Amino acid sequence: MEYRTVKKVVTGFNAVDGAGVHLVRVLGSSTVSDFDPFLLLDAFDSVDPGEYTKGFPWHPHRGIETVTYLIHGDIEHGDSLGNKGSILDGGCQWMTAGSGIIHQEMPQASPRMLGLQLWINLPANEKMTKPAYRDLTAERIPVVDESGTRVAVLSGFYKDSPGAMKADYVDATMLDIALDPGASVNIPVPEGDNVFVYIIDGAVSFSGGGAGDFLDRRRAVLLAAGDTVRLSAPEDRSSRCVLFSGPPLDEPVAWGGPIVMNTQDELDAAFSEIRNNTFIKERTY
Ligand code: FE
Repeated sequence: MEYRTVKKVVTGFNAVDGAGVHLVRVLGSSTVSDFDPFLLLDAFDSVDPGEYTKGFPWHPHRGIETVTYLIHGDIEHGDSLGNKGSILDGGCQWMTAGSGIIHQEMPQASPRMLGLQLWINLPANEKMTKPAYRDLTAERIPVVDESGTRVAVLSGFYKDSPGAMKADYVDATMLDIALDPGASVNIPVPEGDNVFVYIIDGAVSFSGGGAGDFLDRRRAVLLAAGDTVRLSAPEDRSSRCVLFSGPPLDEPVAWGGPIVMNTQDELDAAFSEIRNNTFIKERTY
């Protein structure tokens, strides 16, 4: 067993996106090469609806998957495939934009909005795949409860539990891990994957480091090579983090706002299709 040590720490910064949603931008275009195949990570944590109810009105995506996970909150959603619904406490929406989807994501007022949105890149030969949407409600997400730890398996595997989502393109693992004060857990991960952990609450140390090695919330921690991630919470605080693991694509990235392709020509084509109203290739209604 080889524990993955800390390779790089990225601290999120406050940003405003959509029609005026205050969020913490953790990963973006400057982190792509290190965090491949993960493109973007935005984190939400607010008790002030004024910070988020303006939402993300109708906008396009192509070439990526967007994964929205809410620990607390309520996001109303609608898209060009005809899907409509709400992501609620503990629920996750896994959307494959593929060749193109137009959607809106509108957080509703709730006591606390706590969650995140991750963008996973699609491989070059799947960027124009059929768009798809899966609503993974909390009841469908298996939870492995052990002494001092609770792991919700959104995708991939933990112990013998397969995740709620079997990723179609990039074989990504996503685990929501809650640790009681002083608790530790070992998470096996594929050796070739890029792996990072986003700390939502409390603090986490890696590879059983002593006190002082704890990293605080709002940080994405990229891990070095190995087959196991060891996470520990400090004695005085419970902690919560999400682990992401996925095989790197190692392909060129051309990123223009909500669209991520491999070349500038493909980006230009996408934006001209948006202008010409020929962007959407698939409708299911
Ligand atoms: Fe979106």
